[in-house]
Amino acid sequence: MEVTVQIYCGGYVKKPEVSFDLIKEKFLYAADRLPVTKVLMGWPSDKALYERTLELLAKKNIKLYLWFSVFSETGTVKNLSPLVDFSGNKIERDIIKEDEDFFFCCPNNADNIKKILEIYDENFSSIGFNGIFLDKIRYPSFANNPGKNGVFSCFCPECVKYYKSVNFDYKKAVSALSNHENTLNITEYKGNGKYFFKDEIIQEFFRIKAEIIFNSLKNICDHFNKQGLEIGFDVFAPFLAPFTGQDIIKLSSLCDFIKPMMYRVTNAPAGLPFETNALERHAGNNVIGKNLYSLGFCAEELNKLSISCGSSCDVYAGIEINRVKDLAEADTAYIEETINAFSKTKIKGYALSWNLLDMPQENIDKTAAMLKMQ
Ligand SMILES: [Zn+2]
Repeated sequence: MEVTVQIYCGGYVKKPEVSFDLIKEKFLYAADRLPVTKVLMGWPSDKALYERTLELLAKKNIKLYLWFSVFSETGTVKNLSPLVDFSGNKIERDIIKEDEDFFFCCPNNADNIKKILEIYDENFSSIGFNGIFLDKIRYPSFANNPGKNGVFSCFCPECVKYYKSVNFDYKKAVSALSNHENTLNITEYKGNGKYFFKDEIIQEFFRIKAEIIFNSLKNICDHFNKQGLEIGFDVFAPFLAPFTGQDIIKLSSLCDFIKPMMYRVTNAPAGLPFETNALERHAGNNVIGKNLYSLGFCAEELNKLSISCGSSCDVYAGIEINRVKDLAEADTAYIEETINAFSKTKIKGYALSWNLLDMPQENIDKTAAMLKMQ
């Protein structure tokens, strides 16, 4: 089993609140105990901080990836064209937060993609990263931007043009979505994100969103591949992914590894309890007849994803080992049961999420002990 760790240093535009000394201390503690092969670090544009970290990692033959938020948070740096919901309302940022606000731009807009790539080229391309880890490669989920219909987007002029070009009956979709605001009428779930809906236009709507995300990411990955970067993807848990435009199996053909976020104790975006509550408000309780964030179901999801008919790249299970009060209280018992269950699947390893700087030593010690036992 290999281990990847994440280091969060703050948003794109804020000065980093962390010192290199803290990064060094935490990194060395983890690297001395765990089989770390990659570090994912972002997002401030502080060249010196990354360069010093690169140097530190190189001594241990560990790769540094820039953790790069794509369709959300980039709006804090450049003016990006927003999503438009089925009622024609723009879904714009209404709060000014400098670190993380989960406001997504339209992923189908070529000008948006150009500006997002410029953010990398202007701030990060000269640093010498080994790879890039792409986060927020999706539309909003049901849990993002309460009161707005982020999942039921996008109907901006660019998207409408695309729908017409592929003969997608977007007017029928608008009418169906107005009726389905409270229930999606799911009839079956087959694993690996494959849902069946009673209404065919709903099925087609989510399929086309996934197609848009795939096509845009293909262009984005081409740009980074040309610069010799390895690529990792941050993706939702399989059962949540389709509602955000992620076809994980298809996306896995574009990158070197995926990290499905199996956050069973996170009460914030991407956390399974948090996202499941929001999904159930639209899909009804008991969506697929299982407890969606139970250990057993999560292991089953990972198993399907990591066997031959699943992902075409390596899978690292994203698990929380940082401890943040009221938000993600990962303790040693949680780590023990999680690694016990997930290690029986065919995953390549773990992505210890989402911030090494907030990980208590006992959580790292427990992870090390558990991995030695597998
Ligand atoms: Zn759009």
